[in-house]
Amino acid sequence: MTDQIAIHAEKLTKHYGDVRALVDLGLDVRAGEIFGFLGPNGAGKTTTIRTMLDEIRPTSGRASILGLDSHDAAVEIRRHIGYVPGDLALYPNLTGRDTLTYFANLRGGVDWGYVEELTERLEADLSKKVGDLSSGNRQKVGLIQAFMNRPQVLIMDEPSSGLDPLMQRAFQTLMREVARAGTTVFLSSHTLSEVQRVADRVGIIRRGKLIALEAVASLRSKAIRKVNLTFDGPVEASVFEPLPGVRDVAVENHHVRLSFDGQMETLLKVITDRFHVLDISTEAADLEEIFLTYYRDDEVVV
Ligand code: ATP
Repeated sequence: MTDQIAIHAEKLTKHYGDVRALVDLGLDVRAGEIFGFLGPNGAGKTTTIRTMLDEIRPTSGRASILGLDSHDAAVEIRRHIGYVPGDLALYPNLTGRDTLTYFANLRGGVDWGYVEELTERLEADLSKKVGDLSSGNRQKVGLIQAFMNRPQVLIMDEPSSGLDPLMQRAFQTLMREVARAGTTVFLSSHTLSEVQRVADRVGIIRRGKLIALEAVASLRSKAIRKVNLTFDGPVEASVFEPLPGVRDVAVENHHVRLSFDGQMETLLKVITDRFHVLDISTEAADLEEIFLTYYRDDEVVV
């Protein structure tokens, strides 16, 4: 990964009449990273993407992709990106293969060996008319058209919608592979587990505002953990309750179970200074809890 910026948004604002769909959104996506863009329904994810791609004009602010202005260089940008729109519209009477041929021609030809590989890995059926495919199978055609010219930047709006869990995994592997090869991936998603699995960083948008921007690893380190401790003698809950970050203390004789959302090192130091710990275990941090907090709270945590 480099420190170059692949996608830049600056004070992007979009009003639809009275609806403030986007408010001063600022964002930098680094070249080669997978950036997860999360938010509840109506948060402004699609509006952000469509503004970045000049499908709609912002009320104010600007965006650039690969250093090219979204509006002034919209055509040039399309040559370097792959795009999976949220409302994928394909010609229903064309087969998957004809559809991909059409997109390949628009792009001045692609490596068909790679198209075959993508088709196989996503188990896509290119022989049927797109209109006769299930929504998940139609989505696969949309994914292949976005990946097939090995774009520098992939922008995808809810790309795994409709894919079954097995295909979601295959798609995630694909995303990681292309990112390792240098492609920047902007992934708008509802699926926390997907973002947790593939993204390097995540931006959370709510009511048109970016309310969090963080590395997935650091989000995880902040997540609430359940800590189980075993001591060499009975202990009292009142000893643990005042410690910073500690909640929900349950004591049973020599065992203590508590929730903790601070620095693990600090907690361990305080406890081991005072008691003899026989055993300790922590349960894997669950990002879901943290995301739900972001979704609910209004405070700005960027
Ligand atoms: P979802 O996850 O449901 O797809 P989203 O995060 O992509 O949601 P947007 O589609 O960007 O959200 O919508 C943001 C806000 O802008 C919503 O309140 C939506 O109702 C509003 N909006 C979007 N498009 C239009 C439009 N063409 N006219 C009026 N309001 C719109």
